[in-house]
Amino acid sequence: MPAELGGTSSGSSLAVPSRDLPLDSHLHTNLSPDSGVPIDEYASQAAENAIAEIAITDHVDFEPGAPAFDFVPFAIRERTVREAAGRWADRGVAVRFGVEITYDSRFEGAIREHLATHRYDYVIGSVHVYAESPFHSSRVARWVEGQRLEDVVAPYFDEVERAIRSELFDTIGHLDFVKRYLHPYVTAAQLGAAPELYERLLVALVDTGTALEVNTSGLRQPAAETYPSAGIVERFQLLGGTRVCAGSDAHLARDFSAGLEAGYRVAAAAGFGSFAFRRGGDRVAVALPDRFRTPAHT
Ligand SMILES: [Zn+2]
Ligand SMILES: [Zn+2]
Repeated sequence: MPAELGGTSSGSSLAVPSRDLPLDSHLHTNLSPDSGVPIDEYASQAAENAIAEIAITDHVDFEPGAPAFDFVPFAIRERTVREAAGRWADRGVAVRFGVEITYDSRFEGAIREHLATHRYDYVIGSVHVYAESPFHSSRVARWVEGQRLEDVVAPYFDEVERAIRSELFDTIGHLDFVKRYLHPYVTAAQLGAAPELYERLLVALVDTGTALEVNTSGLRQPAAETYPSAGIVERFQLLGGTRVCAGSDAHLARDFSAGLEAGYRVAAAAGFGSFAFRRGGDRVAVALPDRFRTPAHT
């Protein structure tokens, strides 16, 4: 099951709600098994705080029996989000019908089939940590012990690389979410000091034109930094990456747009002037507000 239960808000000052932003591209509602937030709650906060566009990206898993396996049928998810879009369109909030698909290489065929036959505005592919994973809290300490860092992260990064190379997704969600599970046995600082471990993922993103997400949920979790960190986003740009996006990954009403201002700053500091997004058709670029831009930005 995706161990992404969102009830861990720390109240970190890094994760304050944001204002005047064009997009929060990663949100979970009560159409996900691990969130109870009605869609209008996010839309209403977006209207109040001038967040112009939100993507509803509820979980869809392909492992039979997983909590998000057919949790809510596609037709109901689509209708719920489209109806909300209709209610909020003239109140200053564009609501998009997205999805966060759990990438699992065992089910790549089923994922491919689903995406070929179901139309979303925007598709995030993410690797989650399952009950039988070495990173599960019951076995992560033993997994880490005596292993090289490269081998510690390998099961997660291998699967992320397969997700990227599948070319199924607009964006890869929380590239190093494993950071959450490795804490405190491997710290964010230790991972940050080993950017070479990320290189193959960043190269795969560049090769396939897949966008890198700056996921701000890490700011309200022990890592206290985005998934991935600012240094990795910068490295992505140096390797030729041109496509990034950002999302709060809220599962709770109070986490809507949390840390997003900081997430935008991470992207801007790395030299990105816009976000890579999609609204059902061709890819679109969403410009960062002027306050994030410097003359060096493209
Ligand atoms: Zn996720
Ligand atoms: Zn998510």
